[in-house]
Amino acid sequence: MTTNALTIGVLALQGAYEAHAQTLRLLGAAPTLVRTPDDLAGISGLIMPGGESTTMLKFLERDNFFEILKTFVATTPTFGTCAGTILLATEVLNPTQKSLAALDIAVERNAYGRQIDSTILTAETSLPGGPLEMVFIRAPRITRTGPGVETLATRDEFPVLVRSGHLLAATFHPELSSDTRIHQLFLDLVAQHSSS
Ligand code: GLN
Repeated sequence: MTTNALTIGVLALQGAYEAHAQTLRLLGAAPTLVRTPDDLAGISGLIMPGGESTTMLKFLERDNFFEILKTFVATTPTFGTCAGTILLATEVLNPTQKSLAALDIAVERNAYGRQIDSTILTAETSLPGGPLEMVFIRAPRITRTGPGVETLATRDEFPVLVRSGHLLAATFHPELSSDTRIHQLFLDLVAQHSSS
């Protein structure tokens, strides 16, 4: 599937956005940084990176960005990683927190312990191509998935990579590994959505 022409926004309010942009470039897509509601115009998909979801929520209070982004992710392909997944979830626990409520999952923030508990695992997933490296940094845990949410990878039997319609979400950081399969999966999803 050709992904050359795809312009993909990377939410760049805070957090690990530059590494996502680099991986997208490597795969032949055109990343553009999204800092204001106007930056959402003309993109075929959006990546919401890891970082600190509470800080991102603070930035989203400006210019009605939260409401505009909520409408955007309800219909346009969006890939959340870590904090981005927390923003996408319908339910956020530990503590409860406002979210865009687009993806029918419950997430518990910082569920694997403190910063020191951050870890790198390599495990089989349902993606072809063998074991996948997964970098977890103060990761949330997906404790519930709604109907229509497909689990593509797990850690200790909890989902860590899920897909539902136009949405993809990981509790780890695929942009910090050299394996580009997850970003390619998202680009394929965007291409499919754009042509349908
Ligand atoms: N602990 C962060 C949060 O709750 C997420 C960590 C990450 O994105 N690496 O927002």
